[in-house]
Amino acid sequence: MLKGIAASSGITIAKAYKLETPQITIEKKDSNPQEEIEKFKNALAASRKDIETIKERATGKLSDEELEIFDAHLMVVDDPAMSDEVISMIENEKVNAEYALDVVSNNYISMFESLDDEYMRERAADIKDVTTRIKYHILGVDVADLSLIDQEVIVVAHDLTPSDTAQLDKKFTKGFATEIGGRTSHSAIMARSLEIPAVVGIASVMSEVKHGDLLILDALKGQLIVNPDEKTIEQYQEKAEKYQKEVAALKVLKDKETITTDGHKVEIVGNIGTPDDVAGVIDNGGEGVGLYRTEFLYMNSTELPTEQQQFEAYKKVLVAMNGKPVVVRTLDIGGDKKLPYLPIDPEMNPFLGYRAIRLCLDRKDIFRTQLRALLRASAYGKLRIMFPMIATIDEFVSAKALLEEEKEKLVKEGVEVGQDLQVGMMVEIPAAAVLADEFAKYADFFSIGTNDLIQYSMAADRMSEKVSYLYQPLNPSILRLIKLTIDGAHSQGKWCGMCGEMAGEPDAMAVLMGLGLDEFSMSATSILKARSIANSISYQEMQQLAAKAVKCQRAQEVLDLIHSTVK
Ligand code: PEP
Ligand code: MG
Repeated sequence: MLKGIAASSGITIAKAYKLETPQITIEKKDSNPQEEIEKFKNALAASRKDIETIKERATGKLSDEELEIFDAHLMVVDDPAMSDEVISMIENEKVNAEYALDVVSNNYISMFESLDDEYMRERAADIKDVTTRIKYHILGVDVADLSLIDQEVIVVAHDLTPSDTAQLDKKFTKGFATEIGGRTSHSAIMARSLEIPAVVGIASVMSEVKHGDLLILDALKGQLIVNPDEKTIEQYQEKAEKYQKEVAALKVLKDKETITTDGHKVEIVGNIGTPDDVAGVIDNGGEGVGLYRTEFLYMNSTELPTEQQQFEAYKKVLVAMNGKPVVVRTLDIGGDKKLPYLPIDPEMNPFLGYRAIRLCLDRKDIFRTQLRALLRASAYGKLRIMFPMIATIDEFVSAKALLEEEKEKLVKEGVEVGQDLQVGMMVEIPAAAVLADEFAKYADFFSIGTNDLIQYSMAADRMSEKVSYLYQPLNPSILRLIKLTIDGAHSQGKWCGMCGEMAGEPDAMAVLMGLGLDEFSMSATSILKARSIANSISYQEMQQLAAKAVKCQRAQEVLDLIHSTVK
């Protein structure tokens, strides 16, 4: 059994289709520059044609945003700086085309990779993908063609590039397993939107699996079983059926409300990163959007997005949600999220440094543009604006004052602004949780960001594997901070939600419900499961459970308490 990261849920059993990249060796050779330049130009044209064909085939299957990846690839093919460098190297050094391209592209790739930023590493991957294709064409090597697959398989590969993933036919590709990648890599994102089960980051998959091996892909647990025996196959067939039935059964809850057996209503809403993610939230019965992480709009761009570009993105989400609430979080950049075009001085502890609202209150020009775009969009739905990383009352008051200033300006300009706008904050810094009752006098609502709240409370970096045991959502200390936040909101008649990962963890539902949380925001595919739990428990019993949980000493005791109460 091989282990990796579950990137897109499901269980499948099928034969392995190994996607091997043809091995090519690039050697430096003395060559005739004219012939080599000709070869290089022909290879560019052939690659351009390939990418256009793949994009065409993928149109309709992938979202506009995913299709943009191919535009990024075409930009690499058409980049005059890179091809000029290759051509002058061929001319000046009289070397072969593939060698010149190799040297030039490797320089670009290592430059992007050295930037130590996930987004830039993705750009390096784009350049690698495209230049490899060009090299194959220069050398006349066949490029592997996934569209030739005509039987049910699990694709096994070192990595799947966006162009590979786009060629996958759902009818035959029952899953895929890759050696590299994480939950946010391009292939993982695409697998989720294509709903193909996937496990990524299985270090040894290419050496352990042979073409044609029988595989069980358990993308619920992130496991791959190679050549299982009959008994194991039967077990997994049952598991797969059970999972399918569970998913199908949950669909009946899609248009139902979220209400406990004794009539206490809460809202279950979705977390999104781009306007295209709204479809998943609606499909899974989300009652709104509880967190729109707007930083992706900034990260998927080569410069600061304009007011108009932002307005269009926010409007798209509000219109698609058709009157349901949409919580948009203002720019949360810094920490592990960087913008290539907005350099931040290196810091010893970036998660404790210049990020989110701290940066926005310093760079008011950037902040005001976003606020104006949001205010303009507010006319199109039920918008809630939320400020991230608020630590002090003054930060919240200053941010809100800027919003008011922009609102007044827009009204004077005769621009329509929504009447039902709420302005709230994330509670993800312990200082804000402790002082929640005072913050609630200023904010219309809270949303608890447990990903950061836990890292700051436990003093445990959320990026560090070594201290990951301290990520303990059910630790009574965390539950007490959550209780302070919810009680603080309610003391002023305000509502309190949660948009950190904890909100979607099935085990946490009972205790969060009992603590009085009003809104649970999670990834779209977790919504129906959460609703099924909420609809099967009693609020009164959960209140008693929560009262006991905050008096426990350890997370394990809380978990035992939950398991003995919720069957
Ligand atoms: C959080 O901190 O819990 C949160 C939702 O924000 P992010 O994960 O984007 O920091
Ligand atoms: Mg956070």
